[in-house]
Amino acid sequence: MSSIAQRLNSLREEIPAGVELVAVSKFHPVEALMEAYDAGQRLFGESRVQEFVEKVEVLPKDIRWHFIGHLQTNKVRKVIGRAALIESVDTEHLLQYIDNESVRAGVVTRVLMQVHVAREETKFGFSEEELLDYFNSRRFESLKATHICGIMGMASNTDDESLVMSDFERIAAIYRTIRENESLGLRGFDTLSMGMSGDWRLAVKAGSNLIRIGTYIFGERQY
Ligand SMILES: *Cc1c(COP(=O)(O)O)cnc(C)c1O
Repeated sequence: MSSIAQRLNSLREEIPAGVELVAVSKFHPVEALMEAYDAGQRLFGESRVQEFVEKVEVLPKDIRWHFIGHLQTNKVRKVIGRAALIESVDTEHLLQYIDNESVRAGVVTRVLMQVHVAREETKFGFSEEELLDYFNSRRFESLKATHICGIMGMASNTDDESLVMSDFERIAAIYRTIRENESLGLRGFDTLSMGMSGDWRLAVKAGSNLIRIGTYIFGERQY
């Protein structure tokens, strides 16, 4: 069995230039994160607020943290100011909450809009229609302290690679539709986060520039 450092290095050799790697460390102890840190990893992703806060507290300050899990409004306060990017904004209500709390805290919060295209009923996120409507109606212009940097999405959880690829291509198309609409005047809308341990190669092929990998680096999670 290879080490965390070895697996990180083999990933780095394979990931094309221009694609950033989030090491998804949820459910893994700080010792495992430190192993990745010592191997040079500085970008980590967590999905549960309490665990996120505890790890931010004890781990080195030059780590950048992405929050990637479903975020309840009553926990927004704990995440803003600590996360370099909240990848999982899944409702306008949450976005408004993040904006209000960011104003209150005097910080600017960077976020991705999570879009839902997968076949599973349970996944969070905006539908394509909701997301396009949000931008086309220019509701983003009312945000005071939140910067929308792009989109995050997941493919259906299936071994059928053509289905996974068509999900990624659909998410990428939504991203490009928004990004290339110059009349929106968006700045810094440049991040397309797609791809996990089992499907990141397909995601990169479809245009992802931010991949979120947990199991491959750290092993299976003990829930
Ligand atoms: C857990 C998680 C990942 C990592 O998944 P792996 O299959 O372990 O690589 C990526 N993205 C999100 C949103 C997650 O919750």
